[in-house]
Amino acid sequence: MTKRLTGIAASPGIALAKAFRLNKEQYEPVAVEVADKDQEVLRFSKAVEETKQELEEIKDLTEQRMGAAKAEIFEAHLMLLEDPDYIDAIIDSIKDESMNAEFKLHEVASSFIEVLSSMDNELLRERAADVRDVTGRIMSKLRGVSYAAITAINEPCILIADDLTPSDTAQLNLDYVLGFVTEVGSRTSHSAIMARSLEVPAVVGAGEGVKDIATGTMLILDAVEGVVLVAPSDQEVEAYQTRKQSYDERRAELRKLIHEPTLSADDHRVELAANIGSVEDLQKVLANGAEGIGLFRTEFLYMGRSALPSEEEQFQIYKHVLERMDNKPVVIRTLDIGGDKELPYMKLPVESNPFLGLRAVRLCLSQEDLFRTQLRALLRASSYGQLKIMFPMIAVMDELLAAKQLLQEEKEKLIQEGISVSANIEVGIMIEVPAAAIAADSLAKEADFFSIGTNDLIQYTMAADRMNETVSYLYQPCHPSILRLIQMVIQAASKEGKWVGMCGEMAGDEHAIPILLGMGLHEFSMSASSILPARALIKKTSQQEWAGYTQQILAMSSQAQIKQFVEQKTRSDLA
Ligand code: PEP
Ligand code: MG
Repeated sequence: MTKRLTGIAASPGIALAKAFRLNKEQYEPVAVEVADKDQEVLRFSKAVEETKQELEEIKDLTEQRMGAAKAEIFEAHLMLLEDPDYIDAIIDSIKDESMNAEFKLHEVASSFIEVLSSMDNELLRERAADVRDVTGRIMSKLRGVSYAAITAINEPCILIADDLTPSDTAQLNLDYVLGFVTEVGSRTSHSAIMARSLEVPAVVGAGEGVKDIATGTMLILDAVEGVVLVAPSDQEVEAYQTRKQSYDERRAELRKLIHEPTLSADDHRVELAANIGSVEDLQKVLANGAEGIGLFRTEFLYMGRSALPSEEEQFQIYKHVLERMDNKPVVIRTLDIGGDKELPYMKLPVESNPFLGLRAVRLCLSQEDLFRTQLRALLRASSYGQLKIMFPMIAVMDELLAAKQLLQEEKEKLIQEGISVSANIEVGIMIEVPAAAIAADSLAKEADFFSIGTNDLIQYTMAADRMNETVSYLYQPCHPSILRLIQMVIQAASKEGKWVGMCGEMAGDEHAIPILLGMGLHEFSMSASSILPARALIKKTSQQEWAGYTQQILAMSSQAQIKQFVEQKTRSDLA
């Protein structure tokens, strides 16, 4: 009977191969008194020196294969070799007690690891893995044995281990290691992060069952679903071989598009951008070929903490995002708190209809200090890239003018203080309140761009709470009422020569994309994982052809009818 283990799909892909268990020797040194303690210290220092050279080599290898950022992990390992609390403590205790280096290394490192492993902070807990790794390396030098068998693998396999250190992961020979499964680990553990950048399929945290997998056992690693099949049947192997082939083909096709501009079948250019909520999301955004950030939801910087973030803290984050995006457009949305996003520490009055209450720009205009702090941080960051500032939930012109006024005042103050501010910051608004969509023609005179927030625009147009499951059937992005509003917004902006993006979920919807392309939407912003599939779809779609369908689509009476029309047409495009 096939055994199924489930874990976290840390790096997607499918692999079929025999298991190879990475056995890290659990060596427990015994205490031995040494006759010449200076000689023992020398022996230890030599082992440290050799470890240093080895780590430098691994660092270079990692830099070549995965880039400088990943190689920084080994900088931390190298720093540990210089750390007096670690290295000097070992040397001192060899000297003080005339004991063998192996024993003292084990003793000092174990107490380090114990303290770090018990920390609440995940980053510090991960440092324990670094200490374990570096200690293992020094120990193998002292004993004259090789550290791990990982480099000796010479036939196709799926690697099995309790955990993999970053250096294990960096040394994987991907000609043979088709994937890996670990007993422990999380999506954010170093080995998981590195697996994603090496694009090797990995399931981590698959639990105790991993211990029972012996080298040579046939495995199916489904790192799309986070499942491992141990000793599968012939039928399962056959089914997975087919699944793997179509998965790999689709992925290879999509990956070819990473560095390509987003062009329709008839060479109409649009921008494919990503939505982010934190700096951590950037890695995935860049790995998926985003051409910019279409929405940075800054409210997440304010959430999950006990006080407001300072101007300096925000400045550092915005600057970092702009720098990482290397002069590509970055739309940063000002605070959108309220509705379902609460800040308990602000002790705001309880509202009976929070989605219709003091939310987003309404709250910011009522708490000027809070707003001015964010605006200053944004303005200060503006000289580090192509910043565009966006106000959420604008319903009427007065709100836009008031927000622009505060921005202008803060800009003038900064300039007076001698702080440089970019002269080319575009200032736009979200179109997510029906009133703004309907009056888009006048708003377009004052906004540099629009980004349509369909998550809210649909809930407000349909009068259907986006958090309420029982009315979720009214979330209908392709309903004619929604499409008509979108068309009005795009036309109103075009008349004023302004660009229009979309950052609600609808932007990545495969039924909506051809329609939006036909209507002339300029920018589509979505979660990073939707970017390549969207680019592939746009590439197959003719903008002119879909522009020709717009009136016909808008005259239809239901979403079902429109979706059916899109399916028919896209199928015939493919035929
Ligand atoms: C939207 O409303 O479509 C949007 C992008 O904003 P949020 O989902 O953050 O409300
Ligand atoms: Mg919204």
